[in-house]
Amino acid sequence: MDAKLYPVSQDWARRAHVDEAKYQLMYERSVKDPEGFWFEHGNRIDWFTTYSQVKNTSFGGPGSPGEVSIRWFEDGVTNVAYNCIDRHLATRGDQVAIIWEGDDPSESKSITYRELHDEVARMANVLRNRGVGKGDTVTIYMPMIPEAAYAMLACARLGAIHSVVFGGFSPDSLADRISGCGSKMIITADEGLRGGRTVPLKANVDAAIAKIGGVDHVVVVRRTGSPVEMEPARDVYLHDAAEQVTTECPCEKMNAEDPLFILFTSGSTGKPKGVLHTTGGYLVHASMTHEYVFDYHDGDVYWCTADVGWVTGHSYIVYGPLANGATTLMFEGVPTYPSVSRFWEVVDKHQVNIFYTAPTAIRALMGAGEEAVKKTSRRSLRLLGSVGEPINPEAWEWYHRVVGDGRCPIVDTWWQTETGGIMITPLPGAIAQKPGSATRPFFGVVPQVVDAEGKVLEGACEGNLVIAESWPGQMRTVFGDHQRFIETYFSAYPGKYFTGDGCRRDEDGYYWITGRVDDVINVSGHRMGTAEVESALVAHPKVSEAAVVGYPHDIKGQGIYAYVTLMSGEVFTDDLRKELVTWVRKEIGPIASPDLIQFAPGLPKTRSGKIMRRILRKIAEDEFGSLGDTSTLAEPAVVDDLIANRQNRA
Ligand code: ATP
Ligand code: MG
Repeated sequence: MDAKLYPVSQDWARRAHVDEAKYQLMYERSVKDPEGFWFEHGNRIDWFTTYSQVKNTSFGGPGSPGEVSIRWFEDGVTNVAYNCIDRHLATRGDQVAIIWEGDDPSESKSITYRELHDEVARMANVLRNRGVGKGDTVTIYMPMIPEAAYAMLACARLGAIHSVVFGGFSPDSLADRISGCGSKMIITADEGLRGGRTVPLKANVDAAIAKIGGVDHVVVVRRTGSPVEMEPARDVYLHDAAEQVTTECPCEKMNAEDPLFILFTSGSTGKPKGVLHTTGGYLVHASMTHEYVFDYHDGDVYWCTADVGWVTGHSYIVYGPLANGATTLMFEGVPTYPSVSRFWEVVDKHQVNIFYTAPTAIRALMGAGEEAVKKTSRRSLRLLGSVGEPINPEAWEWYHRVVGDGRCPIVDTWWQTETGGIMITPLPGAIAQKPGSATRPFFGVVPQVVDAEGKVLEGACEGNLVIAESWPGQMRTVFGDHQRFIETYFSAYPGKYFTGDGCRRDEDGYYWITGRVDDVINVSGHRMGTAEVESALVAHPKVSEAAVVGYPHDIKGQGIYAYVTLMSGEVFTDDLRKELVTWVRKEIGPIASPDLIQFAPGLPKTRSGKIMRRILRKIAEDEFGSLGDTSTLAEPAVVDDLIANRQNRA
């Protein structure tokens, strides 16, 4: 496919923290002299005791098999909550830290850094009074309300390790994640509120505890005010407990390598892993990427639409922005409530300058038409961002032209729960964008493309994406299972971190994520990423979303099975099916023509909105009896429809 180039404008090059020349210089230094580079940039956060050691990392490999150990700034002492709150009080006490926008458009509020301090200190004291201290794990199961951020920061203040579980997970999934990290304390709310509907969070916590036991305390935030069961010996309302404590709460002294949080990955590929992140390196990476990738300047209003239940919410709603003294917007609701204009209405209401969302939301809003966007102003927007999946060029163009009125660069940020922060991305003042490409590595990131045997490919090429050197925000281990960490990430290509993603590098050195390696299709000996075929389908004017998988094919080895969702108002017919086959042939070539196309009213997605191709593959293989773990699916019901209408009947 031809790649259009969107050059950096003069304005952007002038005002951005980093222009092209500076990017080149900084990037080169970061990979040639990582010690020197990170010695300098580690100081962007405040340390109680400064570090003298910068990097002490090994990915194992031929020289030291099995030895994987990652330590950054290891003799430094700091505290994440101190960096996100206390150090700003002298200069920014009255500045807004968090703008909260409720599910109901009539509800919103602003929290200053001073208020943030007091709320977090009180919550920390409530936890401390219930026995929470350094090294203890705390599960947070909350709606998108400021108390979710307070809870994370309260743990960080005390040196406790939080594990945030997305508020949309069922009691069973919650139970697995509580016992997975052994929390004795849970912080939750009476109910959540999303899209006008309540979510019984406290009841779910009760059901989870009934299943696994072992929880001593539940702190309940009052959100909707509906009455919930309270177990007197175990449960307490935050507002009652907070009355008993002061706003005086010193920050625990934490070693750079003390754990900050555990987060279970979103579960697109299989059993979620308890990813462990630590204190110093993580915060340096999160805050530095937030400042440079989003080109954050004082006074900007920044909005990341993720949920704090995902790593994007951790690094780019809470830790990165607050460490930078930014104003971060937190949204309780969904993009389609009360109407499909909601995102843009919120942008206008709070004069948002920087907006960061996921391709799944962009595609859904694209399917709903331009009018809902065009009726809002969006003049305040300066920069747009995307994360979570490859963004199809068609969706990129729509985001750029319709949402950004052709005026805002788009940062397509590739990263993972495991990487802690953004890894491959344009910097808006430095790197020209190509729709669908995550473009270039961030400072200190050394991506390589390797073939199946691990041979490092040079120049323009396609293969598997690995990272050759450690970076500060890298996960340190799988909680409680270092062997699984080594096996999952360092055994496929010894001495390198394997991302699990396929990738193409073009002649300009730009990286294009082609999808997960597990999803690669092999048609008559040609390896094909799912992203390319899906993007061709989405480029058809009647298609809003597509998912492509392989299935056994007598002649080709694998055939291409495509599921497509149409723009609202469009009808699926046999003619359209033929038209789509011809369309893909024309866009990519005959090798990519779908063998089977199924109309999908909805696609199976994780709760963070990613397409679960693993399940679609099983349906395409006509093996729907063994779908595997479906507990992380957002809407299990769509699967039944897809099975009933599958095209490949035995
Ligand atoms: P699990 O690891 O449990 O299967 P997951 O991989 O979906 O779940 P995350 O860590 O949330 O969990 O997602 C990281 C993955 O998302 C990446 O490996 C990549 O496949 C995809 N991804 C994220 N951002 C981008 C992007 N900008 N472009 C392409 N792919 C992306
Ligand atoms: Mg993953």
